[in-house]
Amino acid sequence: MGYIKGEDRNQTFLFPESIDDYICEDNPVRIIDEYVDQLDMKELKFQKAICANIGRPSYNPKDLLKLYLYGYLNRIRSSRRLEHEATRNIEVIWLLKKMKPDFKTIADFRKDNKKALKTVFRQFVRLCDGWNLFGKELVAIDGTKIRACNSKRNNFSSKKLERHIQYIDEKIDTYLKELEIGDQMEASERKPNAEEIQQRIEELRNRKEKYEAYQDHLEKTDSNELSTTDPDSRLMCNNNNNVDVSYNVQATVDSKHKLVADFKVTCKPNDLGELDNMALRAQTVFGVQKLEVLADKGYYKAEDLKKCVDKHITPYVPKQTYSNGTGDKDFYTDQFCYDAEKRLYRCPAGKELYYTRNRITKAKGIIGYDYSNYEACQSCQFKERCTKSKKGRSIYRHVDQDFLDTIDLQTETNKEKYKLRQMIIEHVFGTIKRGWGAYYFLTKRKLSVSGEISLSFLAYNLRRAITILGAKEILNRLRETRELALAKAD
Ligand code: SF4
Repeated sequence: MGYIKGEDRNQTFLFPESIDDYICEDNPVRIIDEYVDQLDMKELKFQKAICANIGRPSYNPKDLLKLYLYGYLNRIRSSRRLEHEATRNIEVIWLLKKMKPDFKTIADFRKDNKKALKTVFRQFVRLCDGWNLFGKELVAIDGTKIRACNSKRNNFSSKKLERHIQYIDEKIDTYLKELEIGDQMEASERKPNAEEIQQRIEELRNRKEKYEAYQDHLEKTDSNELSTTDPDSRLMCNNNNNVDVSYNVQATVDSKHKLVADFKVTCKPNDLGELDNMALRAQTVFGVQKLEVLADKGYYKAEDLKKCVDKHITPYVPKQTYSNGTGDKDFYTDQFCYDAEKRLYRCPAGKELYYTRNRITKAKGIIGYDYSNYEACQSCQFKERCTKSKKGRSIYRHVDQDFLDTIDLQTETNKEKYKLRQMIIEHVFGTIKRGWGAYYFLTKRKLSVSGEISLSFLAYNLRRAITILGAKEILNRLRETRELALAKAD
């Protein structure tokens, strides 16, 4: 008994006669081909959608979109790798009909069609909606950090620049001293020699000038940081508590089939302030009056929650629990009970904390109230566990706390529903980042990364649609649409 043997390489019919025989009827590549062929590239505002009559013929944007869609669906995002695939991958050869665009053409297509790519994503969402794949009742909103094309070295805050400039000044001083000492030494003893030292000082001065220009920029633009490779990216903390220069990608995912309904790229390191925006956008995408929204505590903000409720959106967002500084959970803020009748707080030791003052900001006026009873705290046996303040403990009550209490109760009584949040949203981020390797961006600037992530979400939705309906069914539906359109045109 020998091993399983392959075919003889020299036989004439090792490969089928037609390349089409390689692509089985339910191959996703046929869906990409059919779907993109039906797109109106002019309406979607793709560059070169109208064929030029003069000059060298260009590639049809449909072919390049097909290539990208195939690539993103198969974990190939780089233009150089896509160029390579076009020469060796049977599916790509079939899809592009043996055309072999070079990496520059491929990369330029993505660069030149940032907005159009986002429009294709939206178009596919509408198509899925037409196929009844969205429940439009319950959505989960979350953000994920995706690394930008900007190293940490090329990201500067005012403090970092100050540190660098101080180091350069110290270094220049050391070199100048070395020069002074060197003058008194024999030329043969100097290490390094005066010329080399002068050169190093010159280099340091140039670097200092560069950093001072960055400082000027920060002051003029009133920003906290500057990223020099991708100016829109910002230093952000990711899920593993690592810090990286990234973008924050917000996504809204429908609970019915975990399809992405909408997304947005932000430069903000946290999710606070995005809830109402994303929820209202989802309402518009679905064209519904009522919607339930699941989001984690990072979105817990009274103003946003109020806006949602005003627009008939029901938010399920757990409240933030604030530490007391000592780290003792028995004395966290949520352990203090509010007595609405007497308008005071009762602490875990049973003491009453009274209203002491309003908290006011210039922009918003009264934002909350402080409650305390320092006298009771001074003689309290739990003071060390409760607070680090010498005076005693003070409790802050938000101006809209009554409203927040109703949201808290709503989230608490719908715990089971809230538990779905992770299952709905993490599936998307897990597939795109872990499964398909899109945990870093290949392009720069916010608009470009928006176009790039559009392709990831579009590929994700396409993959989900294939899983839910089956490739054959999707192909049948697409072909039906084409025939209907042709019949209408006649
Ligand atoms: S320190 Fe003050 S607030 Fe804290 S438990 Fe004691 S009395 Fe209550």
